[in-house]
Amino acid sequence: APKIGVLALQGDVREHLRALEASGASASAVRRQEELDAVDALVVPGGESTAMWKLAAAFELLEPLRLRIKEGMPAFGSCAGMIMLADRIEGGIEGQQTLGGIDMVVRRNAFGRQVDSFEADLDFAGRGTTRAVFIRAPWVQSLGAGVQVLGRVAPGDRIVAVRQGPLLATSFHPELTGDARVHSYFVEMVREL
Ligand code: GLN
Repeated sequence: APKIGVLALQGDVREHLRALEASGASASAVRRQEELDAVDALVVPGGESTAMWKLAAAFELLEPLRLRIKEGMPAFGSCAGMIMLADRIEGGIEGQQTLGGIDMVVRRNAFGRQVDSFEADLDFAGRGTTRAVFIRAPWVQSLGAGVQVLGRVAPGDRIVAVRQGPLLATSFHPELTGDARVHSYFVEMVREL
């Protein structure tokens, strides 16, 4: 089974570990460089991207993470994780950095106060309808030619799932629904790459 880590600085780590195991991966928490070195791929969970960035810096993980991504390690980011995998962000706090990797602009807290959190059905990667949970979610504001759109959501037809090579990101939280579609897709990606 592919060894997939979940960045465990902050956010909903346990739910991702469970979803990955259910999708046939061997999942482990990653808090230190040695733990990062031991995995084939990484999930960056939902949570709070500002806190995740500060903790990654404090744990001296920013550069090791950026290096692995540059070397082609497959990664999947959900919600705050999508923000972390974006090359550029809008609505970040002063000085907020990401890991980068996906050629896109992601807008934080994009759906606004009126609809802080909501659920919607959407088609993911042409694999049928999945229930998507959005919690103070970002959307993809713009993307480069190399980025593939894997999902959109009805309010505004916004882009909420993308892939660029070995990197996958969703605005929503597939780890919270028990629908393993997105995690299975990621585990397949890791097996193929
Ligand atoms: N709004 C959060 C952020 O900016 C993301 C929310 C989430 O991950 N559910 O990081």
